[in-house]
Amino acid sequence: MEARIEKIKQLLQEQAYKLTPQREATVRVLLENEQDHLSAEDVFMLVKDKFPEIGLATVYRTLELLSELHVVEKMNFGDGVARYDLRDDNNHHHHHHLICVQCGAVDEIMEDWLIHLEEKLAREYNFKVLDHRLDFQGICNRCLEKKQAEMRQNCEDSTVQNNRS
Ligand SMILES: [Zn+2]
Ligand SMILES: [Zn+2]
Ligand SMILES: [Zn+2]
Repeated sequence: MEARIEKIKQLLQEQAYKLTPQREATVRVLLENEQDHLSAEDVFMLVKDKFPEIGLATVYRTLELLSELHVVEKMNFGDGVARYDLRDDNNHHHHHHLICVQCGAVDEIMEDWLIHLEEKLAREYNFKVLDHRLDFQGICNRCLEKKQAEMRQNCEDSTVQNNRS
């Protein structure tokens, strides 16, 4: 955590920005909730715990700055709310997302599944891939398992009824 903050601090300094306490608090909130895809309001509410006097505009400006510097990626998962996604530390390509259309969960795949495709693009199109977005829309394993459990339950119920009649 501290190492990553230090790295972000250096990145800001290279661009002549300072990691002010408010900015640092914002970065910490993003790091602490790395698996989540927080909206500006979500980040604001969490930063406010530590800095009650901080305004939404300040948090918003920090998030915009971090996204310009590619520390975070501004995402939209189809609900019209901009969400901020922390990029991987080592500057790899952006991770993939599994977006559940039923419960709205967004799961992450950290492994780069596009490496073969990137090689193909380099070979066949002489195109160097710098980054990509890959989001899958579907139904998550939790929703599927819930559905399957419900179907099993319905089956058992109808068996009981059939036995009665
Ligand atoms: Zn993500
Ligand atoms: Zn890649
Ligand atoms: Zn789901």
